[in-house]
Amino acid sequence: MTKAILVLNAGSSSLKFSLFEYEAASDLHLMTKGQVEGIGTAPHFVAKDHHNQILADQPLPESNQSIGHSEGLHAIATLLRDQYPDLKLLGVGHRVVHGGAHYAAPLRLTPGTIGALEGLTPLAPLHQPHNLAAIRAVAEARPDLPQVACFDTAFHRSQEQINQLFGLPYNCYERGIRRYGFHGLSYEYVSSVLKQQEPEVAAGKVVIAHLGNGASMCAVQNSKSVASSMGFTALDGLMMGTRTGNLDAGVVLYLLQQEQLSVQQVEELLYKRSGLLGLSGISSDMRVLLDSHEPQAALAVDYFVHRISRELGSLAASMNGLDALVFTAGIGENSAIIRQRVCEQAQWLGIEIDPHANAANEFCISAIDSPTTVWLIPSNEELMIARHTRTQLGL
Ligand code: AMP
Repeated sequence: MTKAILVLNAGSSSLKFSLFEYEAASDLHLMTKGQVEGIGTAPHFVAKDHHNQILADQPLPESNQSIGHSEGLHAIATLLRDQYPDLKLLGVGHRVVHGGAHYAAPLRLTPGTIGALEGLTPLAPLHQPHNLAAIRAVAEARPDLPQVACFDTAFHRSQEQINQLFGLPYNCYERGIRRYGFHGLSYEYVSSVLKQQEPEVAAGKVVIAHLGNGASMCAVQNSKSVASSMGFTALDGLMMGTRTGNLDAGVVLYLLQQEQLSVQQVEELLYKRSGLLGLSGISSDMRVLLDSHEPQAALAVDYFVHRISRELGSLAASMNGLDALVFTAGIGENSAIIRQRVCEQAQWLGIEIDPHANAANEFCISAIDSPTTVWLIPSNEELMIARHTRTQLGL
């Protein structure tokens, strides 16, 4: 019998899964991963095993609007049954975007705790309902299976209050309007790898740059979050694929009052039509922009790097210094040119890059005598969730 932990990451139109084999006294091993995309429009199921061999790549049979997370889950369960007839699922770990001010650690789910997470939906209306839909779908299909919620915000609850404040009346903070920070599972994983491989570096003042389609940066000391570029929502901080990043709140008022945009139009603008896509007018995909000769593409890339430089200075200030910079996520892991440009603008922080190590995507990419070291650590949020689930289930 193969024992395993299932990890689910449910979005508005997708349901991603990873299956990890569990063996007592060894780390978890990825068996297969995949996703149902196009939920609500044209659902399509893709899955690969750990050798990257395709196990499924097909539209779901009832290709209509009624396909939701339950049907997506059914497709995943059917595949797992077919591929691994002797599989015993031990539990399911979910990525849940918001744990509010209260949840600083993963949470074993019960009807009561699911209700508490529903109460946090107003803090993340675009994501939390989908996370909870997948939790409910599993509870309905397999009430016997233990489930664990792992929060994107939890890692940041170690931050001092000063880093969670806005300059609003204090009762706003008390009402929950505070800087929560996101991408916490990525930061936690990357910090754990750094601690394992370079414990002395991990004990110091580290900034991790999670540069993907969503992008943020986090100041981490002794593997604990000190400050984050993301705030109340996943809009703040760095410019992203389609999100604005840091924006004067007065712009929102201007759009509403002077340009008469509706709240929905402003939301759409800030989340879906801004960022690399909005500035370039070409694409939200960094690869496309780097390959383009259009001046607007270059401008968008310049601004992306500029915002990272400013946040890096700000996060270094929050720790009174900087010992190491770590790159992760799609752009951070794969784009030598973006890493090089960020590092060139951070020479004043004692950063000197090794161009050969950087071009070769090595683990340490700073020059041998660089006072501040630079590292490249691929993120693995799914493994982090599976590990948390294992711990929560006492396995
Ligand atoms: P993620 O959200 O972590 O999957 O990252 C997605 C982003 O990574 C997209 O903007 C991709 O264009 C970018 N990306 C992936 N590979 C590369 C690459 N080789 N060079 C530049 N950007 C890349």
